[in-house]
Amino acid sequence: MTDPRKILLAEDEPAIVELLRYNLASAGFEVISTGDGRMVCDLARGQQPGLILLDWMLPNLSGAEICERLRDAHETRNIPVIMVTARGEEQDKITALNAGADDYVTKPFSPPELLARIRAVLRRTAALPQLPATRALVAGPLAMDLAQRRASNAGAEVRLGPTEFRLLKHFMEHPGEVYSREQLLDSVWEKDVYVELRTVDVHIRRLRKALNDEGDPGLIRTVRSAGYALNVAHEGGA
Ligand code: CA
Repeated sequence: MTDPRKILLAEDEPAIVELLRYNLASAGFEVISTGDGRMVCDLARGQQPGLILLDWMLPNLSGAEICERLRDAHETRNIPVIMVTARGEEQDKITALNAGADDYVTKPFSPPELLARIRAVLRRTAALPQLPATRALVAGPLAMDLAQRRASNAGAEVRLGPTEFRLLKHFMEHPGEVYSREQLLDSVWEKDVYVELRTVDVHIRRLRKALNDEGDPGLIRTVRSAGYALNVAHEGGA
């Protein structure tokens, strides 16, 4: 079980570490930190923080690489990650989201803004374990255990990040229905955080990759100029 009051700060600039330590501690969080990219995954596994603030540029291992490793490991794949970067370039955002980050903050950021984003991400992830223990969803070859936060495709476990999990849950609750990117943002993303429309496409790609969904039409169907839908007629492929 992760501890929602504990935050792992992966940052190598002492001034930012100090600033964030102070602000996070004032807001009631326990902070553990490292400036060494190689240490982040081990610390996350051992400490089970509720959230990781991950600097894009860390010595020895890049933020994107760390994020991918966190998502690949069973003990850390559900821990939300907010990527912190010096540049606000579009391609960096897409790369961070593709690597498995849940949100993205650009330096210089204001501590209140970062705290708001941290709380928003924690609210999203904390809502999941409070669901009734028996809650399960099934659609075609897909199954979801909401209490254990597990998903499977044709019996094989599927590894999903927090956003992909909510996205798939939404599709499985409304199989066959077509949703525009705007509607998906409304239903799946936090209301008080600004997210660009193309972020939806990034997470759809990640969801398809995780589901090994490469058929045509696959499990997640693209409906031209309309949006996306869960293809309930799909027989499960290979
Ligand atoms: Ca850095």
